[in-house]
Amino acid sequence: MSYNWSEEAYRRMGEVAIKAQLAPLDWQHITCQCGVHYGGCRNQGAKIVVIHAVGACDQPGLDEDGNRVEIRCTQCVEQLRREIDYKIRRLNRVSLGRACCEPCGAPLGLVSDVLREVKDL
Ligand SMILES: [Zn+2]
Ligand SMILES: [Zn+2]
Ligand SMILES: [Zn+2]
Repeated sequence: MSYNWSEEAYRRMGEVAIKAQLAPLDWQHITCQCGVHYGGCRNQGAKIVVIHAVGACDQPGLDEDGNRVEIRCTQCVEQLRREIDYKIRRLNRVSLGRACCEPCGAPLGLVSDVLREVKDL
């Protein structure tokens, strides 16, 4: 049997295309990664959240901007927003409105300074 490189390449491209189609299906089965509930949250993940690791953004295991990328359900994203809002207000009260993330110096004035991105899964 003759070996045809372009056929082989075509077959591989087909495999890649199939994997790309399957990947979004796999996301459907990912559960919320919220860690604040006892035993974890069992809801289906709905959002990808990018959270700045305030006060620890120079630690390993984060992206180049010091963010954690996690999957949350809709309710937990709302709860996260409220928690961040509360913490930012409290920090700004003690620092007279000049709260910032110590390792990188990024200002912390808005929820979006910590919760940097929320994308649909
Ligand atoms: Zn959740
Ligand atoms: Zn939660
Ligand atoms: Zn930082």
